[in-house]
Amino acid sequence: MYVPEIELHECDSIEQAAALMTRYGGEARLLAGGTDLLVDLKTQRLRTSHLVSLRRVAVLRGVTLEEGNGPRSAGAFVRIGALTTINELDAAPLVRRHCAPLLDATREMATDQVRNLATVGGNLASAVPCADLPPILIALGATAVIWSRAGERVIPLETFCVGPRQTALQQGELLVAVRVPAARAGFGAAYARFALREGNAIAVASVAAGLALADDGAISELRIVLGAVAPTPALVAKANTALIGRPVDDEAIERAASIARQAASPISDIRGSAEYRRELVDVLTRRALAAAAQRVRENRT
Ligand SMILES: Cc1cc2nc3c(=O)[nH]c(=O)nc-3n(C[C@H](O)[C@H](O)[C@H](O)COP(=O)(O)OP(=O)(O)OC[C@H]3O[C@@H](n4cnc5c(N)ncnc54)[C@H](O)[C@@H]3O)c2cc1C
Repeated sequence: MYVPEIELHECDSIEQAAALMTRYGGEARLLAGGTDLLVDLKTQRLRTSHLVSLRRVAVLRGVTLEEGNGPRSAGAFVRIGALTTINELDAAPLVRRHCAPLLDATREMATDQVRNLATVGGNLASAVPCADLPPILIALGATAVIWSRAGERVIPLETFCVGPRQTALQQGELLVAVRVPAARAGFGAAYARFALREGNAIAVASVAAGLALADDGAISELRIVLGAVAPTPALVAKANTALIGRPVDDEAIERAASIARQAASPISDIRGSAEYRRELVDVLTRRALAAAAQRVRENRT
């Protein structure tokens, strides 16, 4: 299949990209790595007359450590530019030091060739329910940095995807970065996914867990996030309210798995039935939560 005739616009700045998007309105799409978009254009799931390429906008690329100034980022946070590729993320020393659980997801994604092109921003903005980065980023308490001519706004990442292939981005807005709170004592996170084969397969179901423990070992915050089993990545708020103040023992893990299973609203498709996905949510929640608790303990020692 061939991509229909499309005019490609290269930009050197966010402002230029935004101006082109405004000029061509509904006729234009932003292009990052193209690993989602070009497939959609080739299969004619999407049609567009203009592609506005971000690949030369250097300010959108890279990983930096910054000081926080917002409710979700009182401490230091890692800022990941939207155009950072999955392989760049995987190799970034700041990610290894300050938000290593992200590597649970990056290492499972696609193939090396795809990871060389695929970007963090594209993974979020495509808003595909089975995307691997949203669950673990949400479990880590990340926020999305959204740019428009009026300025930047920062929203909790769990509010970024509003439906399958739909985001909270308004006309004239671009996703410019995500901010991830830097590693802190007493906090651990992990991501567990299941796919039908080991390499180059999308998740049938996935679960991320972000866990904060008080000095006495009681849960002070629990963020369980489900992927591929709801129209958007789903933060299971009930797991937090039900388990706060309890130790992470077998009973708590059992309860978290049961709550997560009930919170899932999967579909049946070629990769698995809804019931199979609910089973997976149960198993993956146990794995992710146990791994997160182990990481809290390791971070303390
Ligand atoms: C063979 C193959 C295997 C794959 N395996 C996986 C996998 O295992 N896990 C997984 O999660 N994904 C997988 N994917 C999907 C894809 O690679 C990822 O979602 C990737 O991160 C998308 O990024 P991109 O830069 O290629 O986005 P693009 O295709 O360039 O863009 C995707 C969408 O996001 C929009 N967009 C991009 N950047 C921005 C921005 N800064 N602001 C606003 N909108 C923006 C675009 O307009 C478009 O609508 C796979 C894809 C292929 C082809």
